[in-house]
Amino acid sequence: MTAKIRGIIFDLDDTLFDCTGQLTQPARRRAAQILASAHLDLSTETSYQQQVTLSQTHGSSEAIRILGAQYNIPANIVEQALNAYNPRNVEAITPFPDVIPTLNTLVQRGYQLALVTSGNPDRQREKARLLGLCNYFTEANNTLILLNDRKSGDKGPSLELAAKARSLPHAHILCVGDKLTDEIATAKTLGMTTAHMRHGRQKSRKPQIPAEQPDIEIDRISQLLSLLP
Ligand SMILES: [Mg+2]
Repeated sequence: MTAKIRGIIFDLDDTLFDCTGQLTQPARRRAAQILASAHLDLSTETSYQQQVTLSQTHGSSEAIRILGAQYNIPANIVEQALNAYNPRNVEAITPFPDVIPTLNTLVQRGYQLALVTSGNPDRQREKARLLGLCNYFTEANNTLILLNDRKSGDKGPSLELAAKARSLPHAHILCVGDKLTDEIATAKTLGMTTAHMRHGRQKSRKPQIPAEQPDIEIDRISQLLSLLP
């Protein structure tokens, strides 16, 4: 199944670094504290847990807005909570320990690499820089594609763009991501081979539709090295 692979498109958050542990959980806690400070009946813990639940269907920022509306929290406090969740500066982050050595080996073996990530473009660019990924992925040649998730949650066009930038037919591409709903289903529909990185929110999610069934399941990026010659 992987013998025909010549290029790999990675996702960033929870695929190449522990976004949930290093950024999401602390950010949610900061936002929870601010929301709780504005309402007597809302504890930090409740606010945190409700963000977790709401974010599954509405996304993290919208979860904060919904909580604000639910508890009649003043708009300026909600805004503070949103800024605390998404600070302009990205805190210290590090890639999973096997990521850089794995990328080096994949490059040595002749694989074409690309990174497609959605979110706030400035923030995603800064994450890539802090993680030391700029040597592998650059915006200049479209091997780093930043997709604004406010405009579109669909990664399809960006995955197609990355494939085109590497001049590779979809059948020769392996798409690696943590989200069955996003990377896996989208890439599979485009005819790419898919690898589910079991980390973060959808770590234990079972495929809900046939398109969400990945070709490969991995727990560490370095497992790709035994799959790709
Ligand atoms: Mg991700």
